[in-house]
Amino acid sequence: MLDEAHYYFRRAARLLGLSERLQEILITPRRVVKVELVTESDVGELTHHIGFRVQHNDVRGPFKGGLRYHPTMDEEHATALANLMTWKTAIVDVPFGGAKGGIACDPASMSRSELDRVTRAFVQQTKEVIGPTLDVPAPDVNTNADVMAWIMDEYSSRYGFSPGVVTGKPLHLFGSPGREEATGRGVMYALDQALAASGRSMSGATVALQGFGNVGSHAARLVAERGARVVAVADHTGGVANREGLDVGALAAWVANRRGVAGFPGGEAFAGPEIVGWEADVLIPAALEGVITKENAREVRARVVVEAANGPTTPEADEILRERGIVVVPDILANAGGVTVSYFEWAQNMQHFRWEYERVVAELERTMRRAYDEVEQTAKERDTDLRTAAFVLALQRVGRAALARRTVREDIRLD
Ligand code: NAD
Repeated sequence: MLDEAHYYFRRAARLLGLSERLQEILITPRRVVKVELVTESDVGELTHHIGFRVQHNDVRGPFKGGLRYHPTMDEEHATALANLMTWKTAIVDVPFGGAKGGIACDPASMSRSELDRVTRAFVQQTKEVIGPTLDVPAPDVNTNADVMAWIMDEYSSRYGFSPGVVTGKPLHLFGSPGREEATGRGVMYALDQALAASGRSMSGATVALQGFGNVGSHAARLVAERGARVVAVADHTGGVANREGLDVGALAAWVANRRGVAGFPGGEAFAGPEIVGWEADVLIPAALEGVITKENAREVRARVVVEAANGPTTPEADEILRERGIVVVPDILANAGGVTVSYFEWAQNMQHFRWEYERVVAELERTMRRAYDEVEQTAKERDTDLRTAAFVLALQRVGRAALARRTVREDIRLD
């Protein structure tokens, strides 16, 4: 995955004429933290897990990025995802840098109290390098508002009341209205813009979606509210399809009880991986990385792919989609709604102030649409695809800030 993040970065960097040395400086994380977390299981056995926090770049503000609890979590994943965060925060122009981290663990096999203990151990081991003006974690795969509350509690017990140390907290613990749905909502705005660019609209568009967790379920609900038909959804348990459009609300209620879409009575079952080639106008990968590959990219039937997940398309697949004229809205733009509202949450926390839901939604919409317009404009000016344009825009913003701070002093051609 790291190779892929670097591939897209280098493609844009070459377009901007950045030297190899400067590329190396911009690619290399500022700090990589690897910690051992020794805790007790519920039956009193000692367990240990490895946790990571990769702080990639903080030239535009405190490091910012999610925490992922997953068996595949490792330094390479965290580094790749931290890189993406740097460019993502720059695209939506929020005053943060990029970081990512997590714990190599299988949350499905752990109790709530075991997760709580492992999370607190992670805070103990990283407390010197996280903080409201240093590095602000947020939820990602298999972490949620509860986990953020535990982090805030553990950190605050040492440093005093610090709601700004994490975002994505519960509403009653200084979370922001609209944060939970923010990434899915941003995906909806990105799709709306992508469809509008080719003279189409959301109304009547058919959508196939992979992943029905935080991002996927809210994206599905919001596109359906605007008249799109969600015709197929797949997750780690399988797939379910309905030509007339799935009842997204009923599916969400099913998944809340059964932990997966498999068995949902409102559609026909299919094998999950088939989702990539599903017949629909739009494909939204909203699960894990590396799902659209050179093996299946020619099977994609959608005309628009909106990358709600991070890194769902491999570079080879990206080339194939490009050749085939399929519009790909890149992850660093499409899923930036989450970090945008994380910024609103952090800003509220730092000011000890509260915004109304309506304000959050209005500011999010403005931010996402502006970012999309800027990326689209850059793509037109440079006669390139949206992904390369997004990286160019982000690199320009990070590069200019670095030059202004004199953290790099090399001549950079940024226009
Ligand atoms: P989540 O844990 O809430 O949901 C993950 C979903 O992916 C689940 O529906 C799960 O069943 C599905 N999934 C897992 N393994 C799968 C597999 N092998 N095949 C098919 N489906 C599988 O996670 P999330 O927060 O919704 O994150 C999803 C993606 O969006 C990730 O790539 C994440 O990095 C990215 N993202 C999340 C946010 C956020 O605010 N949560 C922000 C930006 C990007």
